[in-house]
Amino acid sequence: MSKESNRKYSPETNAVRIQVPKTDEMEHTSPMFLTSSFCFDNAEEMRATFADETDFNIYSRFSNPNVDELIRKMCALEGAEAGHATASGMSAIFASFMALMKAGDHLLSASSIFGSTHTVISKFLPKYGIEATYFDINDPNGIEALIKPNTKMIFVETPSNPGLEIIDLALLGEIANKHNLILNVDNCFASPVLQRPIEFGAHLVTTSATKWIDGQGRVLGGVVVGKKELIKEIHAFCRSTGPALSPFNAWVLSKSLETLHVRMERHSGSALKLATALEGNRHLSFVRYPFLPSHPQYAVATKQMSGGGGLVCFELKGGLQQGVRFLDSLELLSLTANLGDSRSIASHPASTTHAKLTEEERLKVGITPGLIRISVGLENVNDILEDILQALDHSA
Ligand SMILES: *Cc1c(COP(=O)(O)O)cnc(C)c1O
Repeated sequence: MSKESNRKYSPETNAVRIQVPKTDEMEHTSPMFLTSSFCFDNAEEMRATFADETDFNIYSRFSNPNVDELIRKMCALEGAEAGHATASGMSAIFASFMALMKAGDHLLSASSIFGSTHTVISKFLPKYGIEATYFDINDPNGIEALIKPNTKMIFVETPSNPGLEIIDLALLGEIANKHNLILNVDNCFASPVLQRPIEFGAHLVTTSATKWIDGQGRVLGGVVVGKKELIKEIHAFCRSTGPALSPFNAWVLSKSLETLHVRMERHSGSALKLATALEGNRHLSFVRYPFLPSHPQYAVATKQMSGGGGLVCFELKGGLQQGVRFLDSLELLSLTANLGDSRSIASHPASTTHAKLTEEERLKVGITPGLIRISVGLENVNDILEDILQALDHSA
């Protein structure tokens, strides 16, 4: 559950080298531990392990060597004391809410958040007596006025999905510490390669490993890392409720982390080239990318991130109808409900993920009618750009 990161090496070395101990076979790469449970030599050892006197594995719902390897790497990358891995990003986020809040507690969340997180906060938490207030991510100075005596946690996503809005993590860290609140940051869009929220005061970092960490659109997974005492509660919640990460998925995700730094550098570099080339295009009313100087929070983005990430957004002048035609005109980019893949993906939130909201509700969370989100893959950036340019011309 809690494994101290290896501080001797830099994060990219730890992402490659942290590994489960070799077995007697002396394998070079980590084997897969596809086993539901683990054996004991004798009754005394089994007793001691159940009494938490050893750190041996018992059962893969509680812990597993492959899952442990992934957690240790993620702790090293995020600079965290401890961590826990789950079956999906949503189970990591849900566990971080359920383990640390109780009936009567209050959650302060940015309104620009992932759709399923919004559903958890607005539909399910109230069933357990946990109330929430949304704040505007672009008005961080308004947050303090919303804090109540029973506020327990602040939750944000930065950059946000899909609008790529940015909030100042150091400022949030100060507010959280002043009022003794848990700052919980969904770091999915940046990944620990580009942003380490704990350095700015976050107490918990939640991540969908399904996205950039897998990086090839294969498996689901989630990770939460942070303060030891908070992770202890999350581990206890997950151990009994069962959102365990499969050892197979953990093995895939841990292998993926070996290339995360190289991939994020390329994704970010290509995304910046794409955003720069598209800015000013006659079919677009704006292009948004954290590392474009025209981004409203460019100064904050460049302060807390080491790269702008692999997502680019733009607004089609032709609105909702052009959004649909744009998707139909693409030849190379995939139309699929994922991001953070080696293959570039285009999505149009207003006609798909957020189609059930009213236009007013969409605008509130930064989703304009012609907003297109591009997840920039590892193809040659000129091929990605040309496909977008021809689709813009054909859909106008
Ligand atoms: C995808 C995503 C999630 C949910 O992760 P799953 O692995 O799909 O459960 C949460 N937050 C953000 C920002 C995401 O993009």
